[in-house]
Amino acid sequence: MNSKIKKIIYSGIVFLSVFGMFALMANYEHTLAIERHKQDARDTLLMTQTNLESIITSRMISMGGIAAYIEIDNEISQLEYSSFAKNIYASADEIVKSMTFITDTTITHIYPYEENKAAIGIDLASEASQRDLILYAKNNLKAVFTAPVNLVEGGIGIIVRIPVVVKEAYYGQVAIVFDYDKTIAASGIESLSSEYVVELAGFDSLSGEKAIIWNNDGNPVGDSIIQEVNLYDSTLILTVLPREGWQGKTVLYYMLWFIGVIVSSFAFMGMYKVLSFNDDLKGANEELENTIGRLQISEAHITHMAEHDALTELFNRRKFVEILGAQLNSGKTGSVLLLDIDNFKNINDTLGHVYGDKVLVSISKRLLEAVEGNAHVFRFGGDEFIVLMMDITDTDSIDRCIENIVCHLDLGNEVEHIKNHITASIGVSRYPANGNTVEELLLKADIAMYSAKKSGKNKRQFFFDDLISNFENRINIENRLRGALKSNEFMIYYQPIIDAKTGDLSSFEALLRLKDLSMPPNEFIPIAEENGMIVPIGKWVIREVLDQLQKWEASGFETKPVAINLSPRQIYDATISEFVEDELNSRGIDPSMIEIEITESVLIDNKEENMKVLSALKKIGLIISLDDFGTGYSSLNYLTYMPVDKIKLDKSLKDRFIDMEDTKMMDGLISIAHGLNLEVVVEGVEEAGESEKLIATNCDYMQGYYFGRPAPADQVHDSQGRLVYRSFTHT
Ligand code: C2E
Ligand code: CA
Ligand code: CA
Repeated sequence: MNSKIKKIIYSGIVFLSVFGMFALMANYEHTLAIERHKQDARDTLLMTQTNLESIITSRMISMGGIAAYIEIDNEISQLEYSSFAKNIYASADEIVKSMTFITDTTITHIYPYEENKAAIGIDLASEASQRDLILYAKNNLKAVFTAPVNLVEGGIGIIVRIPVVVKEAYYGQVAIVFDYDKTIAASGIESLSSEYVVELAGFDSLSGEKAIIWNNDGNPVGDSIIQEVNLYDSTLILTVLPREGWQGKTVLYYMLWFIGVIVSSFAFMGMYKVLSFNDDLKGANEELENTIGRLQISEAHITHMAEHDALTELFNRRKFVEILGAQLNSGKTGSVLLLDIDNFKNINDTLGHVYGDKVLVSISKRLLEAVEGNAHVFRFGGDEFIVLMMDITDTDSIDRCIENIVCHLDLGNEVEHIKNHITASIGVSRYPANGNTVEELLLKADIAMYSAKKSGKNKRQFFFDDLISNFENRINIENRLRGALKSNEFMIYYQPIIDAKTGDLSSFEALLRLKDLSMPPNEFIPIAEENGMIVPIGKWVIREVLDQLQKWEASGFETKPVAINLSPRQIYDATISEFVEDELNSRGIDPSMIEIEITESVLIDNKEENMKVLSALKKIGLIISLDDFGTGYSSLNYLTYMPVDKIKLDKSLKDRFIDMEDTKMMDGLISIAHGLNLEVVVEGVEEAGESEKLIATNCDYMQGYYFGRPAPADQVHDSQGRLVYRSFTHT
């Protein structure tokens, strides 16, 4: 063999082995890319799944509230029904078409009333399209979820029916009709359409067969991905398959082939040169290295783009999945912090998206400053960020990190001379304790975040299993409350309110308790407010207080006016003033014996209608106080035109000011209130010293443990019928 052929063969071997290496790498990238694509699909599905779950389940829970109410008071009027349904309807972004109550099988109540009143009186058991489901819900006492149906009133709807049981027998059903098109639109499922063949299917309650709810182009068969959507007590199945198949041929894949050809050609030539000119060995080598170096740089650029968020330059979702996946595979521990910026929508809405983007960039920088050690920050899309803390799972360290984050977010967020008060709700899941797949950890962090947000924003929540069972827990509390209302297990405690000028007891506040004190009102009232049970409970409170006043009077005991807390839900009920008036009249009690305590949200949301109700209450002769002043929006300004007589300064506000050298701040606030013709009550007075300082201010009333704790009605008077409370010695 001559030396030229020999050189070509040697160089060819080098070519093939280098090229083979690249081929292997390209192949590997192909497999990885398909995995990534599937992961992306799962992430996108998760969004649709959560959307559907939250759109439908939350309204079903609210509807459950109406069912609960009807179980207690089955003579609900159309007006009462409407005032209930309105809240669900109003919060539903038109996704809810109507809410119907069916007594036995006949429509008796409907909301919205005007457009639908023609339906009243229709016996659905005689409508062929609905009869079977109506009877199914009636006979099995189970909630049913129907696939899209043609509605009697036209259009397509998805109907959910919840049976109502009165005295252990079937009484009727509440039905919530979701607008099919709007539900589908809000689920975001259509956004999957361009890329995937999608199918959303349910199971027909009657036949148990698969019923297609929505699909785009036929059914996705083959290597598809499936996601379950859990609704109340039924399950939907979401299936997708990419139109173009799973994509393994990424830019990097082609680049690898391309680079492979070039590098191996250079290797061939290099080898050939080496063999030809032994002397030039060094030169050829350098040339080869340079070329490879340049190719590596462009490859690095591509990788960078694939792993980073274009706006903030933080790592992106894909990188998160990769890093966390690797952590989990190698049995590491750590925690996932999911941050959702509170009220970010406001910034976008008021200052524009361009500005919003700048704030996001600023937030990213603050986050990077805030985390230290073995932690990474990712942008997860929109206003969601993730901090992955590797090797760290103990609560103290995580809390420290969160504190740091909260601090950085709030301090350094001035963009274009506008100071933004940035807070985030943070959900935390930990591995391996909370799961060993990326999806599970994300889902749990999300559940925790949602719970943090619900508990009032700027909060953090660690995932624990109970969060999932919270729903069941809620149902338990609801049942507990329902039972308590039926079998008279509530009672009222009375707490004295003292006249700051005379030291006399001037009135009481009525505070609701469970007789066995097994749960504080702060725990059950929010739930009763959310599901609407606060309305019947609140009516019980009013009757109970009025009965008590009557009893005290009858026994010749000294009586004082009683302040009753009314939650926003009770004010939304336009019939409340009539109710109060009737109850007062039937007992012959003077309206000046009752005060009403409301919270600020009543004055802010639903303003016009609430104003009417408040004015009606005032017209009867009730005094109205604004409770918890200093905890929320707290502007005195709008009180000028609100029908409010008193404000109650919250304990937290008092705590903030009372320790100051002098009480100037307090004085100022009180005199502004006086200027607006408002009387001032200071709450949560616990010590003699506080009482003295407050007397020196110009406040009108004081309330707190120092003067008297909330107590049952039979402990309000001593045996001579005199009121029991602590006064102060007037100097
Ligand atoms: P609220 O209307 O702000 O009631 C005052 C709360 O402060 C009561 O808590 C009372 O026991 C407590 N408190 C009074 N003095 C002091 C003090 O000196 N120090 C401290 N630390 N606390 C003091 P409670 O009874 O647990 O009620 C909690 C909340 O539940 C009430 O806050 C109110 O919002 C709600 N609530 C209670 N009863 C009813 C009701 O009948 N209807 C409605 N809608 N809400 C109610
Ligand atoms: Ca109150
Ligand atoms: Ca209060």
